Amino acid sequence: MNVPLLDLKLQYQNLKKELDEAILKVAESQYFILGPEVSELEKEIAEYVGAKHAIGVSSGTDALLLSLMALNIGPGDEVIVPTYSFFATAGVVSRLNAVPVFTDVDLTSFNISPEDVERKITNKTKAIIPVHLYGQSADMNPIMEIAEKHNLKVIEDGAQAIGVQYKDGKYVGTIGDAGCFSFFPSKNLGGYGDGGMITVNDDELAERIRIMRVHGGAPKYYHKVIGGNFRLDAIQAAVLRVKLPHLDDWSAKRRENAALYKKYFIQYGLNSGDDNGSYDGENKVLLPKAIYENLELKNYHIFNQHIIRVKERDELISYLREKEIGCEIYYPVPFHKQECFAGLDFDENGFPNSDVAAAETIALPIFPELTEEQIEYVVKTIAEFYK
Ligand SMILES: *Cc1c(COP(=O)(O)O)cnc(C)c1O
Repeated sequence: MNVPLLDLKLQYQNLKKELDEAILKVAESQYFILGPEVSELEKEIAEYVGAKHAIGVSSGTDALLLSLMALNIGPGDEVIVPTYSFFATAGVVSRLNAVPVFTDVDLTSFNISPEDVERKITNKTKAIIPVHLYGQSADMNPIMEIAEKHNLKVIEDGAQAIGVQYKDGKYVGTIGDAGCFSFFPSKNLGGYGDGGMITVNDDELAERIRIMRVHGGAPKYYHKVIGGNFRLDAIQAAVLRVKLPHLDDWSAKRRENAALYKKYFIQYGLNSGDDNGSYDGENKVLLPKAIYENLELKNYHIFNQHIIRVKERDELISYLREKEIGCEIYYPVPFHKQECFAGLDFDENGFPNSDVAAAETIALPIFPELTEEQIEYVVKTIAEFYK
């Protein structure tokens, strides 16, 4: 059996009629950049996450970059980021000649460690970028407390977690100064190309972001600030408007699939059902953990990725690929081991949890259309590997 890591064709087949119509409507309007589709999507996302403003941008990376620019982060400013994330989280900081300051993550959630954030504050620190990695919220209360105490900006990287709430019932992306989302096709809410969104509650900051999205001209051709081309395309907005009403159902399916994985990993004797993050007894495979599980809110894990931990990671990956099971390593090289950041000042041994995460994790297929049969087959194949 071939089990892909992600099969977007199934989702397309299910929504083909509406999606085709939405795309054709844009073609007929010949209104391709920003415009009514984008402003409607902005309204719908703002309403969905409960933010005062949502500003459509060209990608998740540009959402982060533009947020930092609009918050006046510049040369020499220190911005605290988890060392274990997608590259963009740190890359955007360096592109502004600011300095990314790395912190370790929690090994249960893979999210930024607030204690380590506190340790990394200096008088140059200007901002923190917590990442809501793999589909669950970072622990925002301590982050916001630290930010308030030291007068820092907080830019949430919600690229993997749109639709998730923190334990106070606020959607991720609405807690800090700016929330950044990605609509890269493989994200849980994906467009048909690049796209992103910034959510903001402050009117002035929102206005600044809107102006900087189009080169900083206000009025057009008169520039008080330097922005860039950070615009979202109408075709992306049209596709995303068809998909947004399905997002919660897809998240529910992902959660069901994660529960099935757990059931089969227990049934096949690879996990005790409560592994406490250690490889003892029958725990050959450590399962992803929901730090939050409040079903009255959407304060839970939506499994944008389903990440297991195993000691024999590289051997298992080769075995699964041989058996035509899609899997991936997110992220094999944390920032503190990236060549491009070698010139920064940090303690190489200061990120033990991130080193473990980079060495032991595998993402298994989790997309909503996955069948129970496929899930059992993945687990059965892993059980064969361990025999
Ligand atoms: C995908 C992703 C981004 C970047 O989004 P793009 O739309 O691909 O530019 C940033 N941060 C995280 C955590 C991501 O997963």
